[in-house]
Amino acid sequence: MVICAACKKAEAEIRLDYAKRSLCRDCFTLFFERKVRNAVLKYHMFSVKDKVAVAVSGGKDSGALLAVLKRLFPRVEMVAVHLNLGIEGYSDGCEEIAKKIAKAYDIELIVCNLRKAYGFSISDFRKTRFSRKICASCGVVKRYLLNKTALEVDATKLATGHNLDDFVGVLFNHYVHGDVEQLKRLLPVNVSHNPKMVTRIKPLCEMTEKETRYYADCMGLPYKSHACPFVHQRRLEKRQRLLDKLSEVMPNFRHVFFKSHVKRLQPALQVEEEAVSVRECTRCGMPTSGEVCSFCKIVSTLTKRKRLEKF
Ligand code: SF4
Ligand code: ZN
Repeated sequence: MVICAACKKAEAEIRLDYAKRSLCRDCFTLFFERKVRNAVLKYHMFSVKDKVAVAVSGGKDSGALLAVLKRLFPRVEMVAVHLNLGIEGYSDGCEEIAKKIAKAYDIELIVCNLRKAYGFSISDFRKTRFSRKICASCGVVKRYLLNKTALEVDATKLATGHNLDDFVGVLFNHYVHGDVEQLKRLLPVNVSHNPKMVTRIKPLCEMTEKETRYYADCMGLPYKSHACPFVHQRRLEKRQRLLDKLSEVMPNFRHVFFKSHVKRLQPALQVEEEAVSVRECTRCGMPTSGEVCSFCKIVSTLTKRKRLEKF
């Protein structure tokens, strides 16, 4: 039996290779919550003056996020936001889980149903030119609607459940492609100076996927048991497998990569958000760098397709 490295009494239930220690359930819960609290404070994510919209997808990460934020910061006003993407055999189950978690933590839940609000679903992309890039288009839709919904409920911060593995997966991808513009924007907090964009925060950015899943289990949270049917299209999955291999040799690889990016390279990249010219989409009025935003372009393609189908 392995004894917990913190309390030295109970049986350890989780091994954290990067920290070279094993912890029991109770000590892990304290450890996880302490680390999330530190990240929120260190990166100045929010204060009691903020209203935080928490994106809840039905997955373990966002469920853990809602639970940990509510437990750590009960005085901060929070609202949960869920997007029903209309994916058959998947999205309705996710919505049910989001409802259960919001109810358990006594947080108001706002649901935006893509089909009801905009007349299309993510599944509709199968018949369009986006069919090979469903996840990329889904990402555009999610970013747009989460921001819009957060604005509608007067939230001042939008929290998402991206964990360390997610963050480093994207980071690695941008480095591989030398995408400096995207690297500049990859931060635990994306401060917005635009009144139509809510500042985005990632409170779980220093927690691994393994830790987040175990925390969700410790809290007894329900989360979706099967993956989205389009998950095989996510190019990041392959990158994660590669990063897993690196972590086998160097268990703290993701932590080191994250820290060197945020602490050393980010300041050197000198983000000048203000310098980026932001216009308003001529169709919906939301911020965009071009004439029409990516969301409106997607909606327009799907609408044309539906019109053609009627003939
Ligand atoms: Fe959207 Fe792709 Fe995630 Fe499914 S796997 S929810 S299509 S990003
Ligand atoms: Zn638009």
